[in-house]
Amino acid sequence: MSDNLFDRLVRNTTDLARTAIENVDGTIYSYGDLFDLSGRLANVLVQQGVKPGDRVAVQIEKSVPALMLYLATLRAGAVYLPLNTAYTLAELDYFIGDSEPSLIVCDPASEKGMTELAAKVGAKVLTLDPLGKGALMDAAAKAPTSFNTVARKGDDLAAILYTSGTTGRSKGAMLTHDNLHSNAATLVDYWRFTKDDVLIHALPIYHTHGLFVATNVILFSGASMIFLPKFDPERIMSLMPRATALMGVPTFYVRLLQHPNLNKESVKNMRLFVSGSAPLLADTHREWSAKTGHAILERYGMTETNMNTSNPYEGDRVPGAVGFPLPGVTVRISDPETGALLGADEIGMIEVKGPNVFKGYWRMPEKTAAEFKPDGFFITGDLGKIDAKGYVHIVGRGKDLIITGGFNVYPKEIESEIDAMPGVFESAVIGVPHPDFGEGVTAVVVRTKANAIDEKAIIAALQDRLAKFKQPKKVIFMDDLPRNTMGKVQKNVLRDQFAKLFTNG
Ligand code: AMP
Repeated sequence: MSDNLFDRLVRNTTDLARTAIENVDGTIYSYGDLFDLSGRLANVLVQQGVKPGDRVAVQIEKSVPALMLYLATLRAGAVYLPLNTAYTLAELDYFIGDSEPSLIVCDPASEKGMTELAAKVGAKVLTLDPLGKGALMDAAAKAPTSFNTVARKGDDLAAILYTSGTTGRSKGAMLTHDNLHSNAATLVDYWRFTKDDVLIHALPIYHTHGLFVATNVILFSGASMIFLPKFDPERIMSLMPRATALMGVPTFYVRLLQHPNLNKESVKNMRLFVSGSAPLLADTHREWSAKTGHAILERYGMTETNMNTSNPYEGDRVPGAVGFPLPGVTVRISDPETGALLGADEIGMIEVKGPNVFKGYWRMPEKTAAEFKPDGFFITGDLGKIDAKGYVHIVGRGKDLIITGGFNVYPKEIESEIDAMPGVFESAVIGVPHPDFGEGVTAVVVRTKANAIDEKAIIAALQDRLAKFKQPKKVIFMDDLPRNTMGKVQKNVLRDQFAKLFTNG
C-alpha cells in the first residue's frame, strides 16, 4: 500500500458529498470536488513534465485552488515548496536557485520576473491569481478529473519549507510523507477532531501551521473548514456560531479580545481554540478564559519538526506553558555548552526526537549534521525547561539569550515580570552591544496607553524582583513590537534598531 500522504489523509473519506471547504465567498467544495480538482491539477503537473521527486515551487495568495495545488503535488508524487508571499524577486532568486524546481506557480503580477529566475534553472512557469484564476486553472479546466495518485514511500519527500532565516541563510526543511502523516494522525487524536468539526481557517498556507496542522488535521478527520484569505476578526466573530474550532497565532486572540461582542454566548458553539507559532502571553490566556469560558490550548512546533508539544485536551492548559510532548515524541533539555542532559526545571536547549522530525536541510548535509545529536535528537534552537509536572516551557530562542558581564539572562524571565506590571501591554527584552558588559539588557515596552508607566517606575519595580545583572539598563517605549506574518516578535529587528544604544557609535 502506498504511503503517499494524500492517500493516507483521505483513506477514510467515503462520503464524497460532505463539505470539505466552504470558501469565503460561500462556494462549497465537497470531498468529491476536492478529489476532482486535485486530480485535474495533478494531470496538469504531469503534462508540464513534473516527475515524482521534482519540486513544485509556489508563491501565490491563499485560495482554494492554491490549496488544491498542494494536494495535487502530493498526488503527483512531487515535492510541494510554498514560498512566503512577502518574498521579493531578489530573495526568490536564492530559493529558486537552491531548490531547482521543475515548475513554478506564481501570481500574474510577478510572472515576468519569475520567468527570468525560472530560466536559470530550466523551470516552467504557470500563474494563479488570488481569485484562483490564471494559466494553471485554464489548463486544469481542460484536464481530466481522474488521476491515479503516485505511490510514494514514507521516507520520500512530500514538501520542503524554507525556515524564516532570521539569522543566516534560510534553509529548506525536508519533510517526508511519514513526518506529515504521523503528526496529523497524532493531532486528530490529541485534539479530538471528528468529521463533525468545522474549523475557521484564517492562517496563511505557506507556513507549517496553516498548511499542515490546520489542513491535514481537517482532511484526516473528514471534517470541514471555512477558508478565509486572511485573519479578519469581524468575519471570525460572525462565523463562530457555526464553527467548532479556530487555530491561530497569539495575535488572533489579542485582536479578538478587543471585539465588543466576544463573550460566552458568541463562542457557545466552539469547542477548541488553538494557539501557536509564537508565545501566547499568560495575560491573554487568562483574559480569554474570563471572557469566553474557554482555556486556549497552546502548542509548540516548528517548520522542521511539525508539532512537538501540546497542552492537554482534558486537564490543565497552563498559561505560559506549551504542554506535554505529543504521543510518540520525546523532548529533553540539554546544557547548550556541554550537551549534558538537565533535570526538571533546569533551563537549557530543547531537543526533540520522533516521527514528526524532518529528514534534514535540503542540500546542506553539514548543517543537518550539526543540528542533530548522534542519538537522533534534533537541536531545536529554543531554550526552555520541563517542570516537575512534565509541562514544557519555552524561554526564548537560543540566539535571543543575552550574555551580560559573563552572566546568562533569559529574556522571558524579565519579560514576564514587566508584562505583569499595570500599564504594560507587552514587552521584548533584548541584548545590545555594551562597552562594559558585552551586552546591555534592554527592555522594549508597549504600554496600554501613552504614559501609563515610565522607565523609572519599571526599573524601580524590578529592584526587588530580579538580580541586578538581569535588570534592564534602558527601557524604550514603542507603540507596537515588530512582528512577522506569523506573529513572532522580530527581536533581530529590535537589536538592529537599537544596536548603538550604549556605544554612541
Ligand atoms: P516556525 O518554524 O516559523 O514555525 O517557527 C518555530 C519557532 O516558533 C519555534 O522554534 C519557537 O521558537 C516558536 N514557537 C512556536 N510555537 C511557540 C509557542 N507556543 N510558544 C513560544 N514559541 C513558539
